[in-house]
Amino acid sequence: MPSKIKFDRNQLENIKDLYINQEKTLKYISLLFNIDRGVIKRRLKELNVKLRTAKETKNINRKNIDKRLLKDFYVNKKKSLLMLRKKFKVRFGVIKEILIGMDIKIRNQQQATDLFRYLPSTHKKQSKSLKKTLSNSNIRKKISNERKLRWLNPKYKQKMHKIFKALNRTGSKHPRYIDGRSDLRFLIHNLSEYKQWRIEIFERDDFICQICNKRGNKLEAHHKKSFSKLLSEFLKEYNQFSPIEDKETLIRLAMKWKPFWEVDNGMTCCVKCHKTEFTTRPK
Ligand SMILES: [Zn+2]
Repeated sequence: MPSKIKFDRNQLENIKDLYINQEKTLKYISLLFNIDRGVIKRRLKELNVKLRTAKETKNINRKNIDKRLLKDFYVNKKKSLLMLRKKFKVRFGVIKEILIGMDIKIRNQQQATDLFRYLPSTHKKQSKSLKKTLSNSNIRKKISNERKLRWLNPKYKQKMHKIFKALNRTGSKHPRYIDGRSDLRFLIHNLSEYKQWRIEIFERDDFICQICNKRGNKLEAHHKKSFSKLLSEFLKEYNQFSPIEDKETLIRLAMKWKPFWEVDNGMTCCVKCHKTEFTTRPK
């Protein structure tokens, strides 16, 4: 049986001081004394020291951020906010708050992308053999399809959403966001005309996916000319109406606008084929 590690009085006082007054973490202390973290924890309990909760630890992390180091990382070393968040173990907003507090301008999305694109470490050269492989369009398509398939995995989707959120690129902050358009899209997709259009296409194709030629999978109606393009054209034609203030008028016009309801523009696809064949960006 391993003998209990003995601390003398001074050492115990030292540990207590480090933990309480200097606000060092258990990890720090355990590394300092080269002793297991659990042992430190037990000793502190024996000394009637109240251990900090996770939330308290977080607050201490926040307080202990070395501002000079943070500035150096962000301004000189051009590290991303995302990376700094990981390094300093605080929320994204905290990093931003501190930088703004030091009068440092936060890079916008475009600046960040440009920076990332041109940083030497991220700009890897393609080898000759890789270039040759990638010149084959079939292989390129295969890779791209596999990438699209990842979006069917809810875990992957969740993870990417988190990243987009951290980069402040969701919803109205998305680079492709247009005011009110998504509401309009939703409203049109919920029209009875839309449901009728789908059914007509499914019936014409006999409920068979036109890509894998199988029946019985969940079906979607694919727009050969994309719905976003149609919507753009529609809004261009009726540009005297605003997608925000004149929603009702636009919906009434949409019901009668033929290009939306062209059965020839539709094609029956199962969900999986629809995603892999036609998705160019995550939904
Ligand atoms: Zn299919």
